[in-house]
Amino acid sequence: MKGKCLCGSIEVVADDHGEINLCHCTMCRRWTSGPMFAVHCGSNVSFNGLEPTSYQSSDWAVRGFCGKCGTHLFYHLLPSDEYILSAGLFQDHDFELLTELFIDEKPDFYALANETQKITGQEVFDRFSSDS
Ligand SMILES: [Zn+2]
Ligand SMILES: [Zn+2]
Repeated sequence: MKGKCLCGSIEVVADDHGEINLCHCTMCRRWTSGPMFAVHCGSNVSFNGLEPTSYQSSDWAVRGFCGKCGTHLFYHLLPSDEYILSAGLFQDHDFELLTELFIDEKPDFYALANETQKITGQEVFDRFSSDS
């Protein structure tokens, strides 16, 4: 599937995926101003056009964005070389929302009606450490 940032300077190419996970953690909400709707795409991801600007937000992850228009592009999990791409890049694609991560960091002022699997931050870290 192909997506692009708001100004069109960066095209993102990844394998087709139909599932979205979102993250309610304080860092994602500071970065995006809402939960981060994202597609887990593995390492087979390429960026054409302008080089993404990146920011290392933790010891294990880098976040990328378009340096021209500011569109959030990816969360790159370094240990597994996995790209978690912003779902909003892919406007022509159908997705199903499956999982809400860091449900324990979700503020009270919103709640989604979707039927999803809800996972706490501790459960995310437990899964992450058992994977690696
Ligand atoms: Zn852009
Ligand atoms: Zn997050």
